[in-house]
Amino acid sequence: MMSEPVCIATWSFGKLAAEVASTMLVAGASALDAAVAGAQAIEDDPSVASVGFAGIGNRIGSVSLDACVMDGRTLNCGGVAGVENIRHVAALAKLVMEKTPHLLLVGKGAEWFGLQNGFPLEQLTTPESLAEWYRKLPVQNKDWLGHDTVTVLCRDQSGSLGGCCTTSGLPYKLPGRVGDSPIIGGGLYVDNEVGAAGATGFGEEILRAGGSLLIIEHMRNGKSPQEACELAARRVNRVAARRGETPKKAAFIAIDPQGITGGACTVGTDCAFAVSRGAHVAMFQADEISGV
Ligand code: ASP
Repeated sequence: MMSEPVCIATWSFGKLAAEVASTMLVAGASALDAAVAGAQAIEDDPSVASVGFAGIGNRIGSVSLDACVMDGRTLNCGGVAGVENIRHVAALAKLVMEKTPHLLLVGKGAEWFGLQNGFPLEQLTTPESLAEWYRKLPVQNKDWLGHDTVTVLCRDQSGSLGGCCTTSGLPYKLPGRVGDSPIIGGGLYVDNEVGAAGATGFGEEILRAGGSLLIIEHMRNGKSPQEACELAARRVNRVAARRGETPKKAAFIAIDPQGITGGACTVGTDCAFAVSRGAHVAMFQADEISGV
């Protein structure tokens, strides 16, 4: 029996990712191919300052991209981190998955691998993105600068799950800093037996709390995608409380093999997410969870 194609993607710009992915899913594409194509539309959009081309720079103004992908049928996965001159890092992560025995390539090694496989090297800043970086330099570290990863989870017509996560990471991060987004189990985890889960927000806190694999394991133990995302947000809150800190912004999304979706975030994260069913895309607001 054919399954209804479903896609869930983070933030308001996730609408474009869901539109692109759902068009492909309806045409019969695999969940992973649709997720990567959806994410790539955001990587190409210079108006999204937190993903791909024209992303906001690190402490020294370089754009440094992270991404990963995972296929729920096989648990095949791949990631790249600290990539400075290739914009389509979700596709590059997929190639790491397909062509290497490794799970994660970083920095110049990832760029060399991309170059060997036909990815063009390019400058990822624009005059506008550099000007914006310079304008916000005085407030870096003081305010949340609206940094947002696109995480895309899909179920295809065969009922299989796939996902990807792509970001330029926290703005003004130290050179070399890597967050949750390229880490399998951190920013993303996909397992056809259980579901798919992904994250966005402060990567340090997402990883410290256990990341997307935590959501998958809650689902494996019978929780719904919504309950599992809420438990992950609570875990972020609890870890922060133990450390005497205010919880930082973090949001989680998930989907199960039946196509049921969920989304939750820590208080103040204000995370919208897009869900497509068939060709229809709708926006939702992740529930803000205050408890521990
Ligand atoms: N999770 C990303 C990181 O920590 C940032 C974000 O999603 O806003 O690099």
